[in-house]
Amino acid sequence: MLNKIQSMKKNIQQSLEQLGYRKTLTRTTILRALESFNRPVSVEDLVEQCQDLNLTTIYRNLHVMEEHGLIRSMQFTSKAKHYVIAEQDDTKHYHYIRCLQCQKVDQIDFCVLEKIKISTNFTIVNHSMEFTGYCPDCAPEIVEHSSTHSH
Ligand SMILES: [Zn+2]
Ligand SMILES: [Zn+2]
Repeated sequence: MLNKIQSMKKNIQQSLEQLGYRKTLTRTTILRALESFNRPVSVEDLVEQCQDLNLTTIYRNLHVMEEHGLIRSMQFTSKAKHYVIAEQDDTKHYHYIRCLQCQKVDQIDFCVLEKIKISTNFTIVNHSMEFTGYCPDCAPEIVEHSSTHSH
C-alpha cells in the first residue's frame, strides 16, 4: 500500500499542478493527510488532521480532486463518505472493512470476483461487498466486555 502511494507521488504532483497552482498547497495538505492515514478517511478525520483548513475548504477541495480522479470516495451503509487516494490503474479496485466500534475503515486488496465468474459462468456487471467487524484495537475490548457479562 505504501509503495503504491510512493510511486504515485510524481503523478499526483503533476495532476495537482494541472488543476492550478493557486490551490496546490491546500490540496497537497489534504493529500498528505489522506496518505498519512493509510486507510480510507472521513471528512471528520481530515478536519482533525488539517487544522489550518476549515470544513468548507476541505469539502470543496475533496470535491474538485474527486472530479479530477485524484481521489475516490466511498459511501458506507448509513455512514459518512470516506476518501482514498485514487489508483493509477483503473481496473484495480478494493473492498473495505469497517470496525463497528471505532468506525475505522481498512482496505482489502483482493477480490473474489474472478472466482465467482469462473464458478458461476456469469458475466458480472456490478458487485459490492462490505465487511464489518472489530479492528485489532477494539477486538480485545469487545472480548473482555462480553466475557465479563457472560454466564
Ligand atoms: Zn476499532
Ligand atoms: Zn471486487
